[in-house]
Amino acid sequence: MTWRADILTIFPAMFPGPLGDSLAGKAQAAQKWSLNVTDIRDFGLGRHRNVDDTPFGGGAGMVMRADVVDAAITPVADERPLIFLSPRGKPLTQARVRELAEGPGAILLCGRFEGIDQRVIEAREAEEISIGDYVLSGGELAALVLLDAVIRLLPGVMGHAESGVEESFSAPLLEYPHYTRPALWDGRAVPDVLTSGNHAAIAAWRLAQARHITQSRRPDLYNDYIASGAQAP
Ligand code: SAH
Repeated sequence: MTWRADILTIFPAMFPGPLGDSLAGKAQAAQKWSLNVTDIRDFGLGRHRNVDDTPFGGGAGMVMRADVVDAAITPVADERPLIFLSPRGKPLTQARVRELAEGPGAILLCGRFEGIDQRVIEAREAEEISIGDYVLSGGELAALVLLDAVIRLLPGVMGHAESGVEESFSAPLLEYPHYTRPALWDGRAVPDVLTSGNHAAIAAWRLAQARHITQSRRPDLYNDYIASGAQAP
């Protein structure tokens, strides 16, 4: 089955962008996912196809109009979740990415300027999702981030089925560090245990590393991990 992505944007040329290459590009060619991009400006008003106007209540910048955005949504709306990429949204999590990957697809609405008139967000019951606590100039890069995270989880997209299972955020811990050849590089050896052939020792070392890295970098995740019943080392 094809996972269907719709994008609503005033910069359609930004898609598929980086998702046309590599894993996602191959998966699109193999019809594991499909992309349909709507130029919101096609629904703009007047000779200049205006999509924005000045904010009620005053203040800097422009706001995307509810009527224009709503008209752009109508032709693509269906049972898929409508997601408005927004710095005010709930932070994107791997759990939500996984749910989206298991569904039929998503409709991704990209804001520009100061954002989108609140009424259309509410009327369409859009889910607001943020990709982090910083402000981008538009929702397009955020939509690409969300899509990249989903596409790699679609059935048959990743080379090794298990490579999605062991990594950061699927487990409650951040991932252990990786090493490959050469075994000695620039005076730096790889940890001995990894070349020992002792699988139990390797697994124990990786778990200890993952715990240590998580505890020092992300105490919030580490506390969740301990609270979920893991034994403190
Ligand atoms: N005035 C807004 C910022 C608008 S940025 C505010 O202060 O909250 C313009 C658009 O970029 C937004 O409508 C949204 O679609 C997108 N955007 C900016 N930062 C984002 C983030 N962290 N996550 C997802 N989308 C973001």
